[in-house]
Formats: sequence, structure tokens, C-alpha cells
Amino acid sequence: MQTVTPLLIGLATGATFAWLSAMIRCRARGGGPGRAGDWSGFSLLVIVGVLCLWPRAGRAPWGLLPALVAVLAIGAVADRWPVRWYVRGAGLAACAWWLWASGVEITHLKVPFVASLAALGPMPSALITILWVTLCGLAFSISGLVRGATFVVGGLAAATLAVVCLLQPEITGPGALLLAVGIAGTALGHAAVDHRAAPASPGRAGGMALGFLLGAVSIIGALKNTAFLVAVLPMLVIGVPLLDASYAWRLRAGEGAVLGITTRRRRLHEALLEEGYSDRQVFGLYLFGAAFLGALGVGLVILVEVSFLLKLLLLVVALPIGALLGYCAARLLPRRQEQPEGADKVEMFEIPISRVTMEQALDEIERFIDQQTPHHVITSDASALVRAQDDLELRQIMTEADLLTADGAGVVAAARLLGVPLGERVSGCDMVGLICERAARRGHSVYLLGAAPGVAEQAAERLRERCPGLQVVGCEHGYFAPEEEPRILQAIREAAPDVLFVAFGIPKQEKWIKQHMEELQVPVCIGVGGSFDVISGRVKRAPVWMQRAGLEWLYRTVKDPRRLPRLAALPRLARMTFAQLLRGHWVPPKA
Ligand code: UDP
Repeated sequence: MQTVTPLLIGLATGATFAWLSAMIRCRARGGGPGRAGDWSGFSLLVIVGVLCLWPRAGRAPWGLLPALVAVLAIGAVADRWPVRWYVRGAGLAACAWWLWASGVEITHLKVPFVASLAALGPMPSALITILWVTLCGLAFSISGLVRGATFVVGGLAAATLAVVCLLQPEITGPGALLLAVGIAGTALGHAAVDHRAAPASPGRAGGMALGFLLGAVSIIGALKNTAFLVAVLPMLVIGVPLLDASYAWRLRAGEGAVLGITTRRRRLHEALLEEGYSDRQVFGLYLFGAAFLGALGVGLVILVEVSFLLKLLLLVVALPIGALLGYCAARLLPRRQEQPEGADKVEMFEIPISRVTMEQALDEIERFIDQQTPHHVITSDASALVRAQDDLELRQIMTEADLLTADGAGVVAAARLLGVPLGERVSGCDMVGLICERAARRGHSVYLLGAAPGVAEQAAERLRERCPGLQVVGCEHGYFAPEEEPRILQAIREAAPDVLFVAFGIPKQEKWIKQHMEELQVPVCIGVGGSFDVISGRVKRAPVWMQRAGLEWLYRTVKDPRRLPRLAALPRLARMTFAQLLRGHWVPPKA
């Protein structure tokens, strides 16, 4: 309780000041909070000012106060006039020098594997302190351009430092704890306001001040006496902005860059936005990164007494896992994509998949009907893609299909991971209803073949209710004996539908269609799996939120555990996807 109360007070103070100052700004402008970042600087000043008056805070805040004013001034100038990063860096370094001179300094470093701490002389101490604080300020100011991101990342970084202070109270000044929590509050308070604001630039001043203060807190706080805490933890805490800022320097051999020095500096968030991610998605990814690295930092502090090797091992294992998770999360997010123009195809595991949205798939089907020649449409889920790897007949059929859409969360996820630009998930079940709607409008007829006796009739009934005027020219169940087949083929030929829905499940329906489509001469034959069961109401479809979250397979398996063996397709698809990713190249879309 003793520690929680000041913690909460710090958090609440920071958030309130940030919110209030943003609101004042908002009123003054008669609109959004504008450069919310500028005003978070004001909150930071208030917090440091309050700390100066607090008897147990020591003299560090007195050194911080003027340095912070100077940092804010530099940030404000950089917001209004183009100031090169090294000029900003030089200004920040001067402020960091002042900080060092007023006693906020890194005095000791611990070298890994060596038990004792190495005392730094005045010169190295000044150099390391100034370098560190400047770096923090610059990194935050550079990455402050995604709305809200710096503030949330800063908030999490400060909160992590606060937790570290709590875990290591004996080597932490109480001022550091309050300051860290105050910064977290400021950052989070502003994130909330900034998020609601009309398009606004967060401004450099606040971000820079935030980074500068975080650098200072990491020194005042518990970070001086183990190698991990002094070197690794701060890196983790500001890892996301560092990554964002340093992205420009990664080796860009493809662009002819020498030793990674590029002609045009591009930060990570810019690259992500250009790739089609929204502001909100970049924000979410940064949040994930900061939370992961922060949690890792806290884990290391908890393990502070444990051997160095063990902590190193933790880092070596956790960082690649985090990077992989972040990478997968980024790949799985739906991106704003160029709408495909026609039904061009992209190859996935040697199966050409049509790049279409639902609307485009329906247009394509109407075009097939107009042509009055037989066409085969397949909606392929993960199990079909996996099966086609072993079943060469199915693969051939899928390759020759006139339209093959991606149906199922597994296929869409694999495509996103591989960067294959599919339009969207086009599910067979949705397609049946939508094809019937269009058919009713345009006077086309449909035939339902498949599922248990009585189901196709029931489904037809439901479809007629949904699409008044729909011509259902025949229904037949899917459990007929081989000797009955000629009769059924004859019935379909005589009914001459424009669309034949075949519901036998993959791959039976695909093979059946392929075998008979020429003699049937139906313009569109499409395999629709268990759709009749769903449309007739015998099987309930997953709730919309589960469909949206790509969890329909889970719902269907829970409802019908006999489907469990089919799930084996998902790990295999994941294996195939990662194997493809590791091979590091992708077959370009077919023209
Ligand atoms: N089915 C059929 N004849 C058969 C085997 C299956 O009519 O010989 C029907 C079965 O009743 C079900 C559908 O085909 O309605 C297959 O549905 P499932 O959900 O298994 O297919 P998926 O949508 O997963 O491809």
C-alpha cells in the first residue's frame, strides 16, 4: 500500500495534467488538440516542478527542471523550422551535460562475467551519460510521428522503469519512481486525447522531452549496478523507438546503399504506412513491441540475482520469439490493398488462386453464365490446399478451375504471412446465398445437388424465401448409389440450370464436377461443401464475430467433433508456410 499510493498519485497526476493541457490547447484552437506532444512537455514540467518541492526527492529534479525547459525549447524550434537531426542532437547533448553536471550521472558500469563494478572517471562518466540521454531524446523525437505511438510507447517504458524501481527499492531514489510514473501518466493521458483528435502531428517537443526524461530516470533509478540493468534494460525499454529510428540505417543493398547508409532516410513506421497499414495498426504493433520488451525487462530485473548466463539465455530465446511474433502479427494484419482489377491469379503452393473480392467473384460468375459454356468454380480452404499437395488429381483439377477463391481463415492467414496479395476471403457458404440473390434478379436458375436426403429441398425453401423469384429447377441428395447416377445426370441436363451447386465435400465434389461438367453443359458448377446443411438451418453457422476473427473452423469442430481430424490440415499449412518463408522467396504473381 505504501508504494502503491504514490504510484497511483504519480500516474493520475501525469494523466490529468496531460489531459488538461491538451484540452486547454483544444479550446484555444477551437478544434483538436493539435500538437499534443508540445503540451505533454508542459505536464512533464509540472511534474518535475512538483518533485523539486518534495523533500525526499533529492537534488536531481532541480537539475532536471532547467534541462527540460531547454529540451522543450529545442523541440519547439525543431517543430517550426527544419532543424537537422545532428543540430537537435547537439542541443540535447548540451542539456544532457547540464544534467550530468547537476549529479544525474552514470558512475559505474558492470562488465559481464566480472563480479565487481567498474568505477567510471569523470570524463567517461560524462560521455556515457550524455550519449545515453541524448540518444533517448533523439529516438523519441524521431519516432513521434505516428499519432499516439510515442506516447504509449513512452508510457509503457516509464511504467516498466517504475516497476523496476519497485522491484529494486534499496538502490532506487524514491524520486525516480514518482518521476517514472508521472511520465507514464503524461504519456498515457496524451495518447488518449491524441487518439481522439483530428489529424494532428504529435510534435517533437513533447516526444523529445519524454525521451530525455526517460533517459534521466533510467540513470537516477535502479539501473546502475548490473550490466543487464545498465545496458540491456534501457535498450529494451526504449527498444521500439530505437528500432523505428534506426530502421533507416539497416543494410539496403537492394537500393544500392553502401554499408546501410541510404540516400533517403525512412523510418520503420513510414515503411509500414507505405505498406498499407493504417495508423491504428502501426500504433497497435508498437504497443505490442513496447509491452513485450517492457515485460522482458521486468523479467530480467526479477531474475537479477540469477547467473548472467541464464539471463543471457532468456534474452537470446525471448528476443527472436518476440521478433517472430511481431513479424507474424504484422503480416497477419489486413492491409489496405490495391483492389485487384480482374480475376488474375496468384500461386500459393503451386495452386493458382484467383485474386478476387466477393463482388468480383460474383461478377465473374455472371460472366460465365453469359458465356453459356461450362465453368468450374472452387472455393478452397486449408484442407483443400494441403490435400492438393498429395492428391495430384485434385491439384490438376484446382489448377484448371476457372475461378478458385480462398475460403477459410487458414488460407488467408497463410497468404498474408507470405505476402501474397489475395483480395479477401470468399467463402462458399456466403457465395451460395449471394449467387442466388443475383440469379433471382437476373432470372437465372439454380440446381442443388448434395447433402443428406431432404436437406437440399429445405435449403432451396430457405433460399426462395430469401430471394423471391429464385428459380430452383431441381434438388437431389448426395447419397445416391452409382447405378442412380445416370438418372441424376439426365435430370440435371433436362433442368438445364445456369448454376449447379454440388455439396459432397472436398475433394469428392470437385472430382465429380470435373468428371461430368462437359456432359452436363451447365455454365457454372461450384462445389459448396456443407453449405446446404447451414442454409437449411440443420447446422448453425458460427457467430459473426467468430467468422470475422477467422475462428469458424473452431466453432464447427466444437459443434461436430468428427471434424477434428480435418484440423490436421492447419499445422501442415503452417509448416508449409514457414518453410516457404524460410526459403525466403516467393513465386511472383502470374500475369
Ligand atoms: N455429402 C454428400 N454425399 C457424400 C458425402 C458427403 O452429400 O457422399 C455431403 C454431406 O452430407 C455434407 C457435405 O457433403 O452436407 C459435406 O460437408 P462438409 O462440411 O464435410 O464439407 P466442407 O464444407 O468441409 O467441404
